Amino acid sequence: MTQELHIIGGGMAGSEAAWQAANAGVKVVIHEMRPKVETFAHRTGNLGEMVCSNSFRSDDHEQNAVGLLHWEMRQANGLIMQMAQKHRLPAGGALAVDRDPFSESVTAALMAHENVSVSYEEITELPTEGHWIIATGPLTSEGLGRAIQAETGAEALAFFDAIAPIVYFDSVNMDKAWMQSRYDKGETEEERTAYLNCPMTKDQYEAFIDALLAADKTEFHEGETAGYFDGCLPIEVMAERGRETLRFGPMKPIGLTNANDPDNKPYAVVQLRRDNALGTLFNIVGFQTKMKYGAQKEVFRMIPGLEDAEFARLGGIHRNTFINSPTLLDAEMRLKSRPNVRFAGQITGVEGYVESAAMGLLAGRLAAAEMQGRTIDGIPNTTAMGALITHITGGADAKTFQPMNVNFGLFPPLDGMRGGRKGRKERYKGYTDRAKIDFQQWLDGQS
Ligand SMILES: Cc1cc2nc3c(=O)[nH]c(=O)nc-3n(C[C@H](O)[C@H](O)[C@H](O)COP(=O)(O)OP(=O)(O)OC[C@H]3O[C@@H](n4cnc5c(N)ncnc54)[C@H](O)[C@@H]3O)c2cc1C
Repeated sequence: MTQELHIIGGGMAGSEAAWQAANAGVKVVIHEMRPKVETFAHRTGNLGEMVCSNSFRSDDHEQNAVGLLHWEMRQANGLIMQMAQKHRLPAGGALAVDRDPFSESVTAALMAHENVSVSYEEITELPTEGHWIIATGPLTSEGLGRAIQAETGAEALAFFDAIAPIVYFDSVNMDKAWMQSRYDKGETEEERTAYLNCPMTKDQYEAFIDALLAADKTEFHEGETAGYFDGCLPIEVMAERGRETLRFGPMKPIGLTNANDPDNKPYAVVQLRRDNALGTLFNIVGFQTKMKYGAQKEVFRMIPGLEDAEFARLGGIHRNTFINSPTLLDAEMRLKSRPNVRFAGQITGVEGYVESAAMGLLAGRLAAAEMQGRTIDGIPNTTAMGALITHITGGADAKTFQPMNVNFGLFPPLDGMRGGRKGRKERYKGYTDRAKIDFQQWLDGQS
């Protein structure tokens, strides 16, 4: 075979994509800029380097969506999971690894593969011909970032994320919250009731502001600039500017009447907006934050209606290059305007090592199949990998698209399962049982 698959970036996604395509019999060239060109977060020239934590998070494949993603990657002979298992450290239910031996063994396995070669260079142009996967991650180099922006338009490539926390709809107390769009705006009943609203009295608002100001915050990593400030101020920074700033900003109560208590005008209102087509996830509008995760849960559960809220994702603001996948990519991760180029990993708008490697696994298999004239059935959205790819290439709202980690809110609901906290264990087991059957069928269809 004379055709080669070129992969830009040998991180979590690029390494996994290379492994999958090479195992399918395709010749692969990985183009990796490190160690010649460095990023502020990587320390070595290894492929598959973990830039921060040494954990792949929960390994529980019955009750946790990340654990399920581990399971699926293992079934698909994933390199990242294989090497993680080999260098596993004791960490309770989490899959933590000895980071340097881990990335050294990812590098060694790829170097030893007869179908893989590595070219240590920075790529700064978007390829016009051949088969390519761009997996350059959150710290994509400036030159390539500019080239992507020239192709997609400035609006479609972000350099910082501004993540508002996301809650599971079925964990919201609707005896306190109600559905209404401000001033009942909208042509249809659905639009007039698009937002979920949580009311606050004056005392509740004051206590909330105190908690925001006192909460533990994370700092930016060294090397990250504060360029995020345009238009996405963290709520705690807004609160620092004055106690009333939030009440005149994202928490303004005007145009809203509490359906549960129409005679009492709320002093402030927290609004949540639907975050996925399934209607299972809602994000807290304007609540991007640098508060630490533990503090976020405590502070956000002070909001009336969210006392028992379960979070699908907590908020954050990071240096993070990502494209607007819902508008730019097709269901097979190809750039619609240049179908010879696929995107994989964190740059597609997934978040985390595991999710990035999983998107690499899919992209590698899809690219190899295309090059070999095979077709692969669409991956079912009942699987963890399928739920993620469905979300980023279609399920998410393109206008407010922000990076997403895998969670059960992305899965189609199970018929007959009870919502809320009480039925959670049974429901999660139902999701993972269904996913395993569907994933195995999808895999078997490729052999
Ligand atoms: C500071 C920081 C801390 C993080 N902490 C965590 C954490 O604790 N846990 C977690 O799950 N996730 C964390 N993340 C997110 C994490 O980076 C991703 O989840 C994961 O590494 C993404 O995998 P990826 O393959 O998409 O990108 P990466 O793993 O970053 O791989 C991309 C590769 O592309 C290379 N590259 C970039 N541009 C070019 C170019 N033009 N030409 C050639 N090569 C290029 C880079 O050198 C890199 O090797 C963090 C991210 C950052 C920035």
